[in-house]
Amino acid sequence: MENKKDSTNYLHNVLLIGNPNVGKSLTFNKLTGLSATVSNYPGTTVDIDTGNFKIDGETIEITDPPGMYDLNTITEEERIAKLLLFSGDYDLVVHVIDAKNIDKSIDLTLQLIDAGTDVILVLNMIDELDRMGAKVDKEGLSAKLGIPLVLTSAANDIGLDELKNTILNYDDIKKNIDSNSKAKIVIHYGNDLESSINKVESKLEHRYDEMTNRAVAILLLEGDKDIRNTVKKHEKNYADVFSLVDSIEKEYDDPIKYLTKLQLSKYALYFKDEFTTINKVKPQTNDDFKEKLSRLMIHPVYGLIILALVLYFGLYLFVGVLGAGYLVDFFEDVIFGEWINPFLTQIVLAVIPWKPIQDLFIGSYGIVTFGLSYGIGIIFPIVSLFFIVFSILEDSGYLPRLALLTDNAFKKIGLSGRSIIPMVLAVGCGSMATMTTRTLETNRERIIATILMALTIPCSAQLGVIMSLLSSHPITLWIWLGIIIFNFIVVGLIAKRFVPGSQASFFMELPPLRVPKPKHILKKPGQGL
Ligand code: GDP
Repeated sequence: MENKKDSTNYLHNVLLIGNPNVGKSLTFNKLTGLSATVSNYPGTTVDIDTGNFKIDGETIEITDPPGMYDLNTITEEERIAKLLLFSGDYDLVVHVIDAKNIDKSIDLTLQLIDAGTDVILVLNMIDELDRMGAKVDKEGLSAKLGIPLVLTSAANDIGLDELKNTILNYDDIKKNIDSNSKAKIVIHYGNDLESSINKVESKLEHRYDEMTNRAVAILLLEGDKDIRNTVKKHEKNYADVFSLVDSIEKEYDDPIKYLTKLQLSKYALYFKDEFTTINKVKPQTNDDFKEKLSRLMIHPVYGLIILALVLYFGLYLFVGVLGAGYLVDFFEDVIFGEWINPFLTQIVLAVIPWKPIQDLFIGSYGIVTFGLSYGIGIIFPIVSLFFIVFSILEDSGYLPRLALLTDNAFKKIGLSGRSIIPMVLAVGCGSMATMTTRTLETNRERIIATILMALTIPCSAQLGVIMSLLSSHPITLWIWLGIIIFNFIVVGLIAKRFVPGSQASFFMELPPLRVPKPKHILKKPGQGL
């Protein structure tokens, strides 16, 4: 970070990375306030947020890419976060992790340290750790990692000023840690792997700027396609490098990325045991209950019962009966039927003397009496209630569990459990859901999911009309639902048969279950509409 500081209008460029659900967006929003803007990564529809904050007369620019778990990326979004990480455009990385799940995320910090990246580690959700009665040895952990460490609770504005200061004074703080920490961690992947890494590293002639040559060698051995492209660009003898990598890969029974991950998770456990008391505190009854509920949600039988309850209460009773029934009736019959339409009809009749123009606004097909009253009267209540349900499911952490539950069934139609998220979103809005298919791993999965959404899943606007037509005879609703499910299975089986490509694998981290925050829930319908 040091060498670029001399230019007068220099902005510090910071990249914020972390797993989904660790509070990264909230940290970004709290740091940057109203300055944030959203743009797309060139050539993709992946959102990248940028913003800045000022401290001691300096401007710090922060970029918030999509969440990533590992340098070995799976989805396109993760890959873009990785491309930004190694783009050379950032002089400092802030890695946000969930303090309670340090063992699940710190392996990425270790990969970054090993790759020579300047990184600050942020342990967020420290309030939840406090509530558990657990502690972190902040100084010890920071000294062992050899990097600055900040404890935050973005939700409660704790530690954010310290984070800003640490970003500003990174160089001094880092120097101080380097001169004081005696036994800084050095990642060692075991003798066999280390000797393989050394062999590949010694074949690399170019000096890579954005990461160490060792990191390039590790990523090559792990089969990273992007790094292969980079190496192809820089190495004259890239063919020799690739053939060495390919021959080394054959010496191992397991994929090398599995072996490195295994080793890193041992380090991660060591850090959790050595520098936190998480394992020593008794889980709270509340956590016990959440743990049990979480297991039930992914159980093949109880999970389906919970899904049926969610569909019954969430979609049928809340969106269907309350939204499509009572609210639509109230909007149509009272708000528009008794108040707005008669009032506007009177005004139009008084102001516009000519019948064809009057008919444009009022009467059976008038813009106001027909267009507005159907658009607002039917669609608005249903879409709003749908997004309230969706954000409760999203914020509570139920959706990833649903993905795990449906994984087996979805495999039969060429998809993985991950596809449940666009599918549920498609009930809200098909176009938005189609955009979220980019989070799926393979092109094949994206195409099958899009075909299914386009042909079989009604969006909330269609749902509104269908539900309001059928809700007076509930049996017809069930017949309709049966037909939709039948269509879904048939179209899925046909798509699986004809869309080329290989079966997607499935890996998804389960975030902890949470009671959703009303503020977040009420924001969602606005975003959806
Ligand atoms: P992201 O996926 O990492 O961007 O996560 P978000 O910023 O969307 O946060 C995920 C959830 O964690 C939201 O419900 C936040 O309100 C909640 N959250 C974020 N930071 C904290 C924190 O410090 N403490 C607590 N208790 N909850 C938090």
